[in-house]
Amino acid sequence: MVFRDNVEYTKDCRNFTHVGVGCCQTCHSDPEYAMAVVQVDGEPTLLCCMLRAFFYPGNPNQKLSPEEKLLRAIFGEAPHVQDLD
Ligand SMILES: [Zn+2]
Ligand SMILES: [Zn+2]
Repeated sequence: MVFRDNVEYTKDCRNFTHVGVGCCQTCHSDPEYAMAVVQVDGEPTLLCCMLRAFFYPGNPNQKLSPEEKLLRAIFGEAPHVQDLD
């Protein structure tokens, strides 16, 4: 078991090398700030922006707040992106 921001995750980018998406080295060099836990195949997974963009194409590169990370980890869905106009 691994915890990040009090969110337990069971997988990370290394479990998804088969999807053919290259990792973002910027994120991996600064994982404390750039990596986020999202739900993939029902499992909380720590991903860099490249993998998040792959699994959540409607919401690429968004820096998630801890609350959003927690909600994603719990509910497994991307938060609705609001049009702030
Ligand atoms: Zn990665
Ligand atoms: Zn990145």
